[in-house]
Amino acid sequence: VMEVDTRPYQEVIDEVYEKIKDMPGGKNADYIPELALVDSTIFGIALITVDGDIYTAGDLDDRVSIQSISKVFTLAQVIEEQGARSIMDKIGVDATGLKFNSIIAIELKQGKEINPLVNPGAIAATSLIAGNNYEEKWKNITTTYNKFAGTELFVNEPVYKSEAATNQRNQAIAYLLDAYGRMYYDPAEATDIYTKQCAINVNTKELAAMASTLANGGINPLTKEKVVSPETVAFTLSVMATAGLYDNSGQWLYATGLPGKSGVGGGIIAVDPGKYGIAVIGPKLDEAGNSVKAQYAIYEIVKALDGNPYEIT
Ligand code: GLN
Repeated sequence: VMEVDTRPYQEVIDEVYEKIKDMPGGKNADYIPELALVDSTIFGIALITVDGDIYTAGDLDDRVSIQSISKVFTLAQVIEEQGARSIMDKIGVDATGLKFNSIIAIELKQGKEINPLVNPGAIAATSLIAGNNYEEKWKNITTTYNKFAGTELFVNEPVYKSEAATNQRNQAIAYLLDAYGRMYYDPAEATDIYTKQCAINVNTKELAAMASTLANGGINPLTKEKVVSPETVAFTLSVMATAGLYDNSGQWLYATGLPGKSGVGGGIIAVDPGKYGIAVIGPKLDEAGNSVKAQYAIYEIVKALDGNPYEIT
């Protein structure tokens, strides 16, 4: 039987912060030119419990673009609107096992069984979001994200412009899916909305609030507002467990036992259902595109808090 760590959360967060703060390794994403310019020393940790208690360390004011973590909240909103079956039928929920922007992943399965937490499935999910036109869909997305965060979030315009000018690969992905009949709105506009959702700026606490809303069955623990249903959360977390860290998702689940989601802006969230959501930001990424410091920090926190649900203490 493992010994249960009874230290207060803040003590654990402070200790992990000190331990990881100067950890070397990784580099900023640079395939989106603007991301290469982000201060790579930013490092912040936030944990928010389902009771709304907040524990933080490090850089809390710095914002980075949410990038792929956005996929989680668009997915949740589509599940909320259309039901879980729709994602199964129109996108798929199996991991591709390939890089997050893989085109082979589409081709191998003829557009089927792609995953909403990597680019093809995520652009398809964005295309499914309710709204009759670009503006309505965008409004739906920002309203959803704001509720998850419990505050108004804003687009990082330089990041949006930078990616919009260089996202030919994602455009190709959207058109290829369209050719397979697996894109549910204009491919160019869906890709642009997706690109913009990825450019939404978040700080560590805002990101942790979004994660903690998932931990709390869809009710934001800070505002007490119901954002999505507990059923929607359950399906969303399952997809996160399957594919939240791209082609390293297996390694992540093996190490932490928790659903997580990373973004090339440097953020990672992890959710311990019924307990807390964690967010860590550190822009330097490994080969798969996952923040080096955020992965280690969350791993250490989960270990210290006995957060792995597969480990009975
Ligand atoms: N906007 C980025 C892209 O589509 C998001 C990728 C990521 O965070 N892995 O390439």
